[in-house]
Amino acid sequence: MANTDYGSMNVSALKVELRKRGAKLNGLKEQLIQKLQDYDRNNNFVGNITDGIKNDDLAYTVEWPSDSSYISVTSKSVSPDLDIVNISTYFLEVYRDNVGMTECAAVHRKGYNMMINEYLVALVTCTQNNLHFYRGQVHSENTKALSYFVSIAFESDGKIVQSMCECAAGMGPKAVCKHIACVCYAIL
Ligand SMILES: [Zn+2]
Repeated sequence: MANTDYGSMNVSALKVELRKRGAKLNGLKEQLIQKLQDYDRNNNFVGNITDGIKNDDLAYTVEWPSDSSYISVTSKSVSPDLDIVNISTYFLEVYRDNVGMTECAAVHRKGYNMMINEYLVALVTCTQNNLHFYRGQVHSENTKALSYFVSIAFESDGKIVQSMCECAAGMGPKAVCKHIACVCYAIL
């Protein structure tokens, strides 16, 4: 599907494709196309240990809970013992082999600013097998009509286990992007 010419499809056909992927259907035509291209690029964000990914570095080590397991974050939610070191450590670990420190710092800063400027529109959580799972919905920096879902799994001590985001940079199991940084800072 990577070479599908989404531009030639009408909106209802695009929505059929998005629905197959479990993606949200809101947005203008060009945003629906962008979302489909992001899904294709990221192997449809399929994130489970049963997917048969052979490379250990790319293997999901925990299974994401089902959508219905998540509840809204409230003052009574038990949160992981997350601190800035957990976030930095994870981002540096992932970036070390990819794009380097300058980009890492820029993504951190963008994510922090997005949190301050209320780009995070929803945050839900779930605890399973001593892991804390969060799912956030974060507005695109460029187009407020577009938003991305972010999923992050934490151990109780705040260590980040795996993460993924619907954006172009967000392929799991260990994705780092400004949307993931935004959600981390919101939980902090
Ligand atoms: Zn992202």
